[in-house]
Amino acid sequence: MKYLKFKNHSEQVSVGKIVCVGRNYAAHAKELGNEIPDEFPIIFLKPASNVIFSGDNIIHPSYSENLQHEVELVLYIGEDIKNGTDEQAEKAIYGYTVGLDMTLRDLQFKFKEKGEPWTLAKCFDTAAVLGDVVLKKDYMLRGNEKILLSVNGTTKQNSSISNMIFNAAQCVKHISARMTLEKGDLVFTGTPEGVSRVIPGDKIEASIENIGTIKTQISK
Ligand code: MN
Repeated sequence: MKYLKFKNHSEQVSVGKIVCVGRNYAAHAKELGNEIPDEFPIIFLKPASNVIFSGDNIIHPSYSENLQHEVELVLYIGEDIKNGTDEQAEKAIYGYTVGLDMTLRDLQFKFKEKGEPWTLAKCFDTAAVLGDVVLKKDYMLRGNEKILLSVNGTTKQNSSISNMIFNAAQCVKHISARMTLEKGDLVFTGTPEGVSRVIPGDKIEASIENIGTIKTQISK
């Protein structure tokens, strides 16, 4: 079982389901040649067992030739929510962290072409990297924080969370209209443009302004 790591908080909370939003930044949808969702976000899941933390290594799966990074704002759900309103959705978000949605892009393209589920492109051990969760009582998101990722010191992703098509509360509201979110669940809110391939030996540093930084390395 995996437990969340908090900043300034000692409660033990196990990681629940991880709900990920796809194509939530227009410029990233465009770089992959995808349509931009308008009414409802694209949703997929990762298992809690995929989670590692800042400082741990990402293990490059041997069956992929194109492992890519996606830096994302991650929402920590602190109470159950089903069919929530905007206000209830905002209230259910207890905190935030930085996350990496590691993706096997070659497998994802193949699955998309065949109309098959993305599951194996998104779910593998070490595919979800998390930083420490900052609780809302310590920091309230403004909505225009910078989101950044560098590989070996070179900036690859550099945007603002104000570019999200569905904001944090809207993501939670939409997801809760389809499945109950529970305490310990996490919502990955999508990545900005600039995703790129990483190989064993590469060092990734990812940060969201006022939320935190994660550091990780790719290994075989
Ligand atoms: Mn993603």
